[in-house]
Amino acid sequence: MQKLVVLGAGESGVGAALLAMQQGIDVFVSDSGTVPEHFQNELNKANIKWEQGLHTLELIFAANEVVKSPGIPDSIPMIQQLHARNIPVISEIEFAGRYTDAKKICITGSNGKTTTTLLIHHLLKHSGVSVEMAGNVGTSLARQIADGKRPDWFVIELSSFQLDGMYQFRADIAVLLNITPDHLDRYEYKMQNYIDSKFRIIQNQTEKDVFIYCQDDEVIADELQKRIFKSELVPFTQTDILKHGAYSTIDELIINYNDEVMSMLSQELSLQGRHNLYNSMAAGIVAKVLQIRKKFIRESLMSFKGVAHRLEKVLSVRGVEFINDSKATNVNSTWYALECMDKPVVWIAGGVDKGNDYNELMPLVEKKVKALICLGTDNDKLINAFEGKVPVIKESDSMSEAVAEAYKLSAKNDVVLLSPACASFDLFNNYMQRGDLFKKSVREL
Ligand code: ADP
Repeated sequence: MQKLVVLGAGESGVGAALLAMQQGIDVFVSDSGTVPEHFQNELNKANIKWEQGLHTLELIFAANEVVKSPGIPDSIPMIQQLHARNIPVISEIEFAGRYTDAKKICITGSNGKTTTTLLIHHLLKHSGVSVEMAGNVGTSLARQIADGKRPDWFVIELSSFQLDGMYQFRADIAVLLNITPDHLDRYEYKMQNYIDSKFRIIQNQTEKDVFIYCQDDEVIADELQKRIFKSELVPFTQTDILKHGAYSTIDELIINYNDEVMSMLSQELSLQGRHNLYNSMAAGIVAKVLQIRKKFIRESLMSFKGVAHRLEKVLSVRGVEFINDSKATNVNSTWYALECMDKPVVWIAGGVDKGNDYNELMPLVEKKVKALICLGTDNDKLINAFEGKVPVIKESDSMSEAVAEAYKLSAKNDVVLLSPACASFDLFNNYMQRGDLFKKSVREL
């Protein structure tokens, strides 16, 4: 009998366990931390064996296969020992993918995955396509399949950690938004390892499949020279005019696909900013590949409601606008946030630095930022980087204090922007809590 061990009892792990049980696989779940109560109840109800607070190695090494949560690094001894014993370690998506015939649209990149996944889902749904959404957003793919969901299409957000555990899985449509340094701590600080991980999105693709990518991204462009592709390549760009793909003019987004051209005013797009123009292009191409009518594409790109914590407008208080971009956990996403600011900025940044290089922000910061509030337990790196470049720099270790200080430093027609460029774990549970506290503090002003 097949013995599956699931490491990590989060949404993806519990989903994988439920699906395994349903498929008649002997499954055991092990989590070295505390399993949230609602997951405990679910596992008990499904008669799934599980443990928390430890990993019982003899049970784990008895597996024929292991599904590992994306949060567990490959480098820890237990995973190394699984590799040494030739026990395959896969991700939840790889496992779940075996049990569905639905076609798959998979989205990866360093930034913009969630936004683009939600946007594509919205577009297809609005156009009457039978579609569900999975991956890093919402309900896990495994759980949906276990629950009997049988859509024609799944739109799946894939992080590099999910991709690392994928071998046989094939994306019918793969979207690669961008590749900028992130999570290098998990890739031996080698950029190429991280790039290779992202490019797993196209593994197993055939002539019938489609690969949609950003032509302006230098890392992607370099890789294109090095690799052989079987799938149909469809680029998008903001610096070129394409016969096959999506591009922009000063005021329009244009998609040229299979000799059919559609265009719409960029002003009409519900998601504003250069980065979001890329996301809309990617979504638009997916829609064209699925032969969705122009009318629906246009309507959907206009009606999409943005996503919380991503350049989310909170409130204006006496003419000062507050924007929550708590999800900007790396330098590149903050770059795009600053890039689309057209008023003087009081910038709240900081947190856990992931090996950030702030130099690329310098021109934007010098031009737009009037004050910086460093919100973290260790702000030295930020202060050293921006001292002399920003007129005022303050420090804080509480969100409400940081927001009050930002408000004090701002004048009418300024923007207070929370776009940390760092992870949140020093002061907050996660980026969502950080963003929620920002919004709460703004409302209390
Ligand atoms: P991910 O799921 O990849 O983390 P999100 O959609 O959650 O991406 O957005 C994360 C951050 O990146 C937000 O600050 C958002 O404004 C910014 N962002 C969104 N799309 C892009 C893009 N195409 N390029 C760069 N930054 C982006």
